[in-house]
Amino acid sequence: MLMNLTDVFTSAGKVKKVNVPYANDIFSYMGNKYPIKEKTEIAFTFSNVGTESVLIEGELQLVLDIPCDRCLQSVNVHVSVTFAHQVASPEKEEASSEEDEQIFMSGYELDVDTLINNEILINMPVKVLCKEECKGICPVCGGNLNEKECGCDTFVPDPRMAAIKDIFNANKEV
Ligand SMILES: [Zn+2]
Ligand SMILES: [Zn+2]
Repeated sequence: MLMNLTDVFTSAGKVKKVNVPYANDIFSYMGNKYPIKEKTEIAFTFSNVGTESVLIEGELQLVLDIPCDRCLQSVNVHVSVTFAHQVASPEKEEASSEEDEQIFMSGYELDVDTLINNEILINMPVKVLCKEECKGICPVCGGNLNEKECGCDTFVPDPRMAAIKDIFNANKEV
């Protein structure tokens, strides 16, 4: 969706508040598709801040369906997006260094999807767990270890323990 901001760029001191729906139902990230289960409207505030610049501020709350990193169970993850970008008028010769790169601006038009998708990306959680103590999936049978102990032999010697054992053995030999 494109929003034309000509009126804000050209009227000194103008502040415009607009709520617009976020159109997407799926958020794509690193080749994965996450369903958007809940979302607020995008609350935009556009402010003319002089010297042919507009400050674009906004807020959006989302609930995404993301699989747990360990057991792959679906988890409802709240993603809170707030942003502020100062952009220069296309009439202005060169953007000053204070202004952000304007990949989401084309002329006087704001590309809402490009802006918002990028903001969600920045706010995506690094780690998603269904619960802090999630036991994950058994590497042998693939069963969800939160649901039941499958009894598989998953013992993997810890290389650090092996090193300590070596030290003990070495001491014994002396
Ligand atoms: Zn889990
Ligand atoms: Zn198992």
